[in-house]
Amino acid sequence: MDQLALNRNDLQIIEAPEPKEVILPLKGLEGRDKLRIKIGQRLITGQVLYPGLYSSVTGIVKSIDSMSFPDDDYTVIRVEVADEDEFDEAIKAEPDFQGKTPAELLELLNRANLGISEDLADIDTVFVTAVDPDPLSLVYQQVLKEFKAELSEGFKLIKYLTSAKRVILAISEEAKELGSAAIGDVADLMLVKSQYPNGLPELLAQRIAEQDSSAKLAFIKIEKLISALTILKEGKPAIYKLVTVNTKSGVNNYRVRLGTPIKEIIKEDELNNNDKIIIGSPLRGAACFNLETPVTADIDLIYVQDTDEVYNYQNLQCINCGKCVKVCPVNLEVNLICRYAEFALFERCAELDVNACIECGLCAYYCPSGRALVQFIRLAKDEIKQQNIEQLLVTTENSTEEDQ
Ligand code: SF4
Ligand code: SF4
Repeated sequence: MDQLALNRNDLQIIEAPEPKEVILPLKGLEGRDKLRIKIGQRLITGQVLYPGLYSSVTGIVKSIDSMSFPDDDYTVIRVEVADEDEFDEAIKAEPDFQGKTPAELLELLNRANLGISEDLADIDTVFVTAVDPDPLSLVYQQVLKEFKAELSEGFKLIKYLTSAKRVILAISEEAKELGSAAIGDVADLMLVKSQYPNGLPELLAQRIAEQDSSAKLAFIKIEKLISALTILKEGKPAIYKLVTVNTKSGVNNYRVRLGTPIKEIIKEDELNNNDKIIIGSPLRGAACFNLETPVTADIDLIYVQDTDEVYNYQNLQCINCGKCVKVCPVNLEVNLICRYAEFALFERCAELDVNACIECGLCAYYCPSGRALVQFIRLAKDEIKQQNIEQLLVTTENSTEEDQ
């Protein structure tokens, strides 16, 4: 990977073939007994299977198992997909959305598998983000290009749905004109340089915190905003996701049915033995070891790292070159933090504010010693959490002050 921003105006959306089987994931294993379905049952598209889990297809439940994903264990429901969708009629079109109250609309959007109400609850500022957070993802750029005509109505909708004082569109400097036309007088514009990591929500939030550190923020991807509009127009649930697929044969944006296993998009015979599949970019994504992993609403990018390109950390000694410190967008003493983490001095890591790290991966990208810096940081964060170190530090500081 030799660039930290990818801009492409020429991509068209490719419709991925409809899958023969989908895998619907429910985080954790404990919800399994509470699922409202059994093996052999016919599901319809949009049916509620568990609070927050919907069927993205019409078909027959083949199995209910468990599967490990990078972040957790999941209960997974395999569904053999029927030729045609039968949609759950509980989801109705509301094209003239102002005829309903915001609460009614939010309920409808959540019922339609959009999960938007939690984003909008009890906040001061809503960010609509139109800058791809990953340096190799092109999803937001594509949505801006394809749905130019819908953007303005989307902003009227978001303003109507939320009681937040401010709605902000975060958009790249190159798309300033498009953004201004879209927001009209209902939102503010935040221009972002299209260079990684500027589009990461944590850094956008930092810009607001400089003006008002107590503001409660929520982020909504531009894709989700357009999905909300489409649901209200068509009365159908959210069942597709736009995903950038970056392989040695090229970069494409696919519209994929939610639940489609990755093996249906990236064929096993196109991969060499040592190719590595990453969900997200190599800088901050997670390696995917199981091609059965399904496409979910959180996945923007699937990146295949070629055998020759797979990077192996060397973990040589730190030579104190300072490059990691120089590139860190949140100004951490990365070299020190990682040395402390390497020798299990996690209290020192906490004192150096390791939890402020946004895991952008830039430090490791530039480290000439090939040190696994982000892994050290994740280890430190995890140990600090497990050992409750931050709490201990606060208690110690307080008791020292009282002693004086
Ligand atoms: S990953 Fe590295 S560069 Fe990025 S915020 Fe964390 S310490 Fe800084
Ligand atoms: S970039 Fe690598 S070698 Fe240089 S100071 Fe940071 S950790 Fe040490």
